[in-house]
Amino acid sequence: MDKGRKCRMEKGNFLEPCIPLSQSFAAALNVKAKGMCRNELTNVKTFERTCGFATLRSGDFEKEGVVLAFCPFCGKNIMPKHLKQEEEKKISQERKERSESIEI
Ligand SMILES: [Zn+2]
Repeated sequence: MDKGRKCRMEKGNFLEPCIPLSQSFAAALNVKAKGMCRNELTNVKTFERTCGFATLRSGDFEKEGVVLAFCPFCGKNIMPKHLKQEEEKKISQERKERSESIEI
């Protein structure tokens, strides 16, 4: 492994962590783990993995966790395209709903 290697996003959706980030992960793919965790989403209809990302479960975010947009060690953007698109859909839906409620 190349120690100077930064995080990479395979196909824009699957996190390949740098060494310090991979060393900071709690037990692999454990949904209940605290601290820095590695997560994956799988489409239950097709059993296809849709994205892999890092979350932090700590303090106020201990239960739900927060998705890391950037690696705290190498600074690379590690937000999967899939999650970005879902977030953009949610924001545009909220804006639409807000503008509709203002019109009434
Ligand atoms: Zn990194």
